[in-house]
Amino acid sequence: MVADKQADSHESNDILVSTQEVIKNALNKLGYPEEAYELMKEPVRMMIVRIPVRMDDGKIKIFTGYRAQHNDAVGPTKGGVRFHPNVTENEVRALSIWMSLKAGIVDLPYGGGKGGIICDPRKMSFRELEALSRGYVRAISQIVGPTKDIPAPDVFTNSQIMAWMMDEYSRIDEFNNPGFITGKPIVLGGSHGRESATAKGVTICIEEACKKRGIDIKGARVIVQGFGNAGSFLAKFMYDMGAKVIAISDAEGALYDPDGLDIDYLLDRRDSFGTVTNLFEDTISNEEMLELETDILVPAAIENQITKDNAHNIKASIIVEAANGPTTLEATKILTERDVLIVPDVLASSGGVTVSYFEWVQNNQGFYWKEEEVQEKLREVLVKAFNNVYTTSQNRQIDMRLAAYMVGVRKMTEAARFRGWI
Ligand code: GLU
Repeated sequence: MVADKQADSHESNDILVSTQEVIKNALNKLGYPEEAYELMKEPVRMMIVRIPVRMDDGKIKIFTGYRAQHNDAVGPTKGGVRFHPNVTENEVRALSIWMSLKAGIVDLPYGGGKGGIICDPRKMSFRELEALSRGYVRAISQIVGPTKDIPAPDVFTNSQIMAWMMDEYSRIDEFNNPGFITGKPIVLGGSHGRESATAKGVTICIEEACKKRGIDIKGARVIVQGFGNAGSFLAKFMYDMGAKVIAISDAEGALYDPDGLDIDYLLDRRDSFGTVTNLFEDTISNEEMLELETDILVPAAIENQITKDNAHNIKASIIVEAANGPTTLEATKILTERDVLIVPDVLASSGGVTVSYFEWVQNNQGFYWKEEEVQEKLREVLVKAFNNVYTTSQNRQIDMRLAAYMVGVRKMTEAARFRGWI
């Protein structure tokens, strides 16, 4: 059934292809020559590694991992490592390009990088995860480092995994090296506010988007797809701000209450992978949830959730993409024509890398900031980035995705020009 549906569809769900399409368009609009696109369309470096891990049953299992470095014209590359069974080489490539765009949009001195390991952490023990994390760092150690490429958390990786990775790198390097990775526990040089930073960034984008659309967050209806790191913190922030979170979902299903869900209760019951709906009988499907009447829809789960097949049925007036790539390009077009304001992933989810940058700066200085200082700086960066992208989209009469790509690609292309690469 699924295969038939895909064969019927002419829509490209390959995120690398769609990312390249928008990058090309953005570089064209900015008037850069063809070589700029040739350089930007792929990562400059891609490492594929095989990682042997002795599993708890005594057998050795070989895992495949990737690290992509998109472009280091501006500075070291930066981006998370995801542990997921569906990781592919092309996905990691595309995600590294997105990291470059995010860094450009919030104006960080970085290029983009991304890593991934094909594995299912939900089925692995703590010991196996530690061995895999350390094995990955040993395998990629030559191309990463605090001035080369700085990893961070992503889907199904967390501060514990960052701690193991930092420890392994410090052993290889023979000195304590906290700036090698971000998203660490606070006691190991992590930053206040990092864990909730992606959701904080999304919240700031929602606030700004609501101002543009004249929506009062107090009482506004919000749907959050995904209850992982970004989704769960975001639901809580919205709930605390007086919005009505009418639906949330996880990989198993969705919960809906037109009067608003009790988010504190759901957070309390959620497991460490963000699953909670399995505890309830009265659920709806993820697909049904996306089409409910709402003011704000936040896809905070996985790619390709809003496509040309369901875009016509989406009723939200603002979509803020907390996940990477939840809306296809065709769906973006359909929704923009219907005057739905889409705040694209590369802008909306850039709070995480922004506070990662703050963490790296603190590590380099050996001087640590208070939570309020982090929050204040994050807000300043995100409000500026949002308005920069919004103004570009208004002035050029283009959607916010293309505008964000234009803003994101510019600094990197200029840097590459000054270096004589293009
Ligand atoms: N994985 C996060 C992202 O996709 C954070 C990356 C970072 O902090 O470097 O933006």
